[in-house]
Amino acid sequence: MERAQTLYDITTAELAARLRAMGEPAYRAQQVRRWAFREYATSYEEMTDLPAALRRRLAAELPLGLPEETAFIRSDDGLTRKSLLRLRDGELIEAVLMLYDPRSEARGSLRRAIDRATACLSTQAGCAMGCVFCATGQAGFRRNLTVGEIIAQAVRLSRHLKDEEGRRLTNVVFMGMGEPLANYEATLRAVRTINARDGFGIAARSITISTVGMLNGIRRLADEGLQVGLAVSLHAPDDDLRQRLIPTQRHTIAELLDAVGYYVERTGRRVTFEYVLMEGVNDAPEQSDDLGRLLKGLLCHVNLIPVNPTEGSAAKHPARGRLLAFQKAVARHGVACTVRVERGVEIAAACGQLRGEHATSLRRAQRRQTAAT
Ligand code: SAH
Ligand code: SF4
Repeated sequence: MERAQTLYDITTAELAARLRAMGEPAYRAQQVRRWAFREYATSYEEMTDLPAALRRRLAAELPLGLPEETAFIRSDDGLTRKSLLRLRDGELIEAVLMLYDPRSEARGSLRRAIDRATACLSTQAGCAMGCVFCATGQAGFRRNLTVGEIIAQAVRLSRHLKDEEGRRLTNVVFMGMGEPLANYEATLRAVRTINARDGFGIAARSITISTVGMLNGIRRLADEGLQVGLAVSLHAPDDDLRQRLIPTQRHTIAELLDAVGYYVERTGRRVTFEYVLMEGVNDAPEQSDDLGRLLKGLLCHVNLIPVNPTEGSAAKHPARGRLLAFQKAVARHGVACTVRVERGVEIAAACGQLRGEHATSLRRAQRRQTAAT
């Protein structure tokens, strides 16, 4: 489907050229970008220091294209909030805002934890990878998002954060719906706008791309000259099990680790391995040992994610004791290993298991919210 270009789709240089062609002075591009990415304007009407005629012209020729927000939902702890957006063609996508409670997450990194506000963004409507435990994967692939649709999520979340708490995003993670490296161009352009000083101004080191493990994409990203964080979804210490969990997988763990090694070498950054823990599937003591042995010596960190239940999968959350035993066993091999704090389970807002249409938990949370207001 042919889509009109929106303000969020284009670079500063492209915007400057458009404005020049309209006979506008050179400083206009920066003015518009500031409104869009620092004030999070939701319409040109808000850009009050632009001439009214220009505002009207831009609205017609270069719309913001901000998708309608059909819901904005808070989890019970208020620290996780989810924006549900309806795209022009009716597709629904989700973006999640995660704040950090200094009281509960203080240990060790109090200072960093206090001010962190992370946006979790989607890069595709649906996903083609078919991971068996993932709600997005179970729903199948719909289409790639445009740069503008990715950026729009950050604008919506930023605006809520600014209006409600006078704060800005500090981190962005591409861990929402979809596989970012399967929509490489749009994801990278979005990263550049998020990172740019005249964009959202978020340091590349505070941006993380999570991938199911697309080798070409990882290598290409390594060569971009960016300091973006890489998170790789591993989920299993052996090829057979990994293949069962990610049925579309086309390469071995050894090949994946090769590509990850290249990323580390090129960027000097520590890579995160995500491991969604499922009871009786990948949480056995031998598996933790295999995982520790596999990753030993690599500049990396393992993030254990207790599985969030989804409608289409029987995967169960391991018992707390088993989770901690797994973590300790990996760490015994000298591999840093932490357990991810669970987020917004009741609003189905765990990153990577976002699904708008039918999530019953979402409807439940909406009802609760309506009842409370
Ligand atoms: N497609 C990318 C990024 C989006 S998913 C990827 O797979 O890495 C982000 C993370 O959420 C991945 O590590 C994914 O495995 C995890 N995830 C997906 N479904 C989950 C579930 N039901 N419970 C817990 N984590 C899940
Ligand atoms: Fe796609 Fe990631 Fe879900 Fe797998 S876990 S289906 S790659 S979104």
